[in-house]
Amino acid sequence: TLILAIESSCDETSAAVIENGRVIKSNIVASQIKSHMRFGGVVPEIASRHHVEQITQIIEESLAEAEVTLDDLDAIATTYGPGLVGALLIGISSAKALALASGKPLIAVNHMAGHIYANQLVEELSFPLMALVVSGGHTELVYMPEDGVFEIIGETRDDAAGEAYDKIGRILNLPYPGGKKMDELAHMGQDVYHFPRAMIREDNLDFSFSGLKSAVINHVHNAKQKGTEIVPEDLAASFQASVVEVLTTKTAKALEQYPVKQLVLAGGVAANKGLRTALGELMAEKYPSVRFSIPPLSLCGDNAAMIGAAAYTEYCKGHFASNDLNAVPGLELGE
Ligand code: ATP
Ligand code: MG
Ligand code: FE
Repeated sequence: TLILAIESSCDETSAAVIENGRVIKSNIVASQIKSHMRFGGVVPEIASRHHVEQITQIIEESLAEAEVTLDDLDAIATTYGPGLVGALLIGISSAKALALASGKPLIAVNHMAGHIYANQLVEELSFPLMALVVSGGHTELVYMPEDGVFEIIGETRDDAAGEAYDKIGRILNLPYPGGKKMDELAHMGQDVYHFPRAMIREDNLDFSFSGLKSAVINHVHNAKQKGTEIVPEDLAASFQASVVEVLTTKTAKALEQYPVKQLVLAGGVAANKGLRTALGELMAEKYPSVRFSIPPLSLCGDNAAMIGAAAYTEYCKGHFASNDLNAVPGLELGE
């Protein structure tokens, strides 16, 4: 089964051809980071315009690299939420047009399901499964009793972890998005500040990162006022230590409550070295019988290959979208 998948929910324009939800035939990703950098964040109008300019060529490239034509495809999949409405609509319209022109079925994919299924491009998923999804807009624990079924069992009550990384990166004058650079700095510093670990002992599976973000930002402002020097490496290390400890502790709590066969890490922040290492250690020490997977760095950020992987499950279940599919900017898993 060959699926052409399209992703345009934020600032990456991407198209991929995926075989049986497992094999990447092609995965073309055009990032707009350079265009948004000088604004320190994604500007929705600029994102939409770039998607319009890029999408046709990206789709053509993905078909060419996979050495297939529209005729060879079994379905056309697109992200329909969550994300920026204008950005989403570009991918949705393109997918609809191609589905209509080729007579192939259309599949609507949840972007967050895509992040989880990025792991299926590494190895087959085994259910029941737990996913720790950490990205620019989401931080959630997702329980999957079976393929294609999602239950959010815990989530952030305020900021997403990636968002906190990027906002602190901005305060430290790091280029947008600051997460990657913060991760690099963290490995050169020490957790000397011991920022709070929000909600870590609370009897739930939720997170909160806005208090931590404020604590770090206040620290920087106070230092500036007093004229004392800040050590960005130590600040990044201290912030990351808090994020990683909270994420791993809550994941362990979730695994106690929901016995699973596999744990997967997903989302842009799955690229974080500190998190990958800490979670790997937790699993090896405490849950050696639970399989643990992390996507390769190339599949942590937004890409269409993960959308094609998630679309295959929908294809197998016969879940197809009609041609009046619309964008759902606030779409949640399990809806
Ligand atoms: P969502 O998936 O929630 O809709 P998004 O698609 O904008 O949001 P992703 O592309 O999945 O987010 O992830 C981007 C986020 O990942 C950014 O916040 C970025 O800073 C963060 N990120 C990337 N690499 C790292 C890293 N090594 N350490 C920490 N954060 C990182
Ligand atoms: Mg992005
Ligand atoms: Fe994403």
